Amino acid sequence: MESFKYTYEQLLAENNELRFQLEEANDTIDAIRSGQVDALVVKGEEGHQLYTLKTADQTYRVFIEKMNEGAVTLNREGIILYSNSRFAAMVNEPLEKVIGIYFDTFIAEVSAGKYKEVIRDGWNNDCKGEILLSSQDGKLTPCLLSCTTLDLDEGTALSLILTDLTAQKETEWELKIKNDQLEEAQNIAERLNNELEDTVRERTADLLISREHFKLLANNIPQMTWTNLPGGEVNFYNQRWFDYTGRRYGETAGWGWQQIVHPDDLQKTMDVYLASLNSGKVFELENRYLRWDNTYRWHLNRAEPLRDDKGEILFWVGTATDIEEQKKQLDLKDEFIGIASHELRTPLTSLKGYLQLIAIYKKEEVPLMVKQYVEKAGVALNKLQRLVNDLLDVSKIHAGRLEYAMSEVNLRDLVASTLENANHLYPEFDFINRSERNFFIAGNAGRLEQVLVNFINNSVKYSTDNRKIIVETRNVDGKIRVSVTDFGIGLSAGQIEHIFERFYRVEDKKFMASGLGMGLYISAEIINNHHGNIGVKSELGEGATFYFELPLLEK
Ligand code: ADP
Repeated sequence: MESFKYTYEQLLAENNELRFQLEEANDTIDAIRSGQVDALVVKGEEGHQLYTLKTADQTYRVFIEKMNEGAVTLNREGIILYSNSRFAAMVNEPLEKVIGIYFDTFIAEVSAGKYKEVIRDGWNNDCKGEILLSSQDGKLTPCLLSCTTLDLDEGTALSLILTDLTAQKETEWELKIKNDQLEEAQNIAERLNNELEDTVRERTADLLISREHFKLLANNIPQMTWTNLPGGEVNFYNQRWFDYTGRRYGETAGWGWQQIVHPDDLQKTMDVYLASLNSGKVFELENRYLRWDNTYRWHLNRAEPLRDDKGEILFWVGTATDIEEQKKQLDLKDEFIGIASHELRTPLTSLKGYLQLIAIYKKEEVPLMVKQYVEKAGVALNKLQRLVNDLLDVSKIHAGRLEYAMSEVNLRDLVASTLENANHLYPEFDFINRSERNFFIAGNAGRLEQVLVNFINNSVKYSTDNRKIIVETRNVDGKIRVSVTDFGIGLSAGQIEHIFERFYRVEDKKFMASGLGMGLYISAEIINNHHGNIGVKSELGEGATFYFELPLLEK
């Protein structure tokens, strides 16, 4: 055997070499076990070779290193044994400065108590708590701290996982702000709602008061009152109505009131009522209503529409005033005027006759003075006769007895003859005739002349410096219009509204002209009987154009 060839020294050296190699191998194994070594370089037949150590825990080590949470292990003293780089980043320190340091160095003062509590419990059970991390530069990071114990070879350690709650806190904070805002909005809404409720309550009370007021007022005024809907149906009457008619609400509500309108007045009532409902203009009409005792009494009806903000009609408020007594008085007056003027006519006619006899007296020369008196008496007598005739007409109109025969009339001739008289009567005026064409209508020549004379007389009466008067006849939309234009004092819109009424005269202290306010009233009646229109266009101080229009006669 060759072994006998080795000397004692040789064997000792070989023994030392082997012991060294054994120690080295032991150290390597230790390093691999403790995870200090990831790979080995081993020299083989093909030279040096790298061997990596893919142990079972490598996956976890990578995972811990890469995860978004901070991961730390502590020993019993609270010193950091291990930290991943995420934790180092959270406290803004390099990794090597974190390991070996007391963990509580990174805990904000406010969280010190909480941290101690969690760590104490963490050694016994898994537990969690919210703490604030504080970095060297003073930045605070809210974290959820989760603790669990780890059994390591060196003994038990405490594993801490730190979840950054900054984003969550921000969301929470935002949520809180949003919540606060929401709450504030809710409070405001609630307050507004309460206020609104109060207002509604107040308004309802107001409404109740005003309704009560209205009812009280409506029931106690001497007139009968009603309200009707835009369509015409009556939906309210005051007590006076029920007292007068003796009917119950249901009988005359809606359109039921038609039963108690005098049959002779019903058509006119309906016409005027419907016209007002359509136009929205004031309803005004005289008619007779049947009383509980089966007698009719005259009433003056007036109704006005009540509109909302947009101008839409909500309903109409109407009153009916008993004018029976006034009507009787007026009838008596008309009757008196009728009789008186009739009685006056006879002596007036004889007076006129006697004056004419005096005027034509030829036997002896009548002194000039007497002649002048006779002439003046003649003028005064004519005026008186016209007045008496007007009065008679008015009473006839009122009694519905203004009747006359109709025939064919050429308006051109009518204007010509009227103007001839006017020229004769008022030589100081300049009459311009613009009625050259023939226009035939059906009418009463005498009555139409009366109208034209009235227009002309008025134009003369109410003219000022300008003494021009134009009489024109023309076709306006198929109707023949005869107009008289002057350049005198004119009329305001308010005056125009009334001038065709009986006995209406404009009260103008500066401009006193004689008259009783009957002329236009009679004229309007005459033109109405001819189925024509009468009207005026005027402005105060700008003169006036009075006209009538009649349908052209179909031939
Ligand atoms: P009177 O006899 O008072 O003139 P009328 O019925 O003829 O009565 O006229 C009524 C009122 O209309 C007059 O009082 C006058 O105020 C007014 N009026 C009539 N014609 C004119 C006119 N051409 N210019 C101005 N006002 C007029």
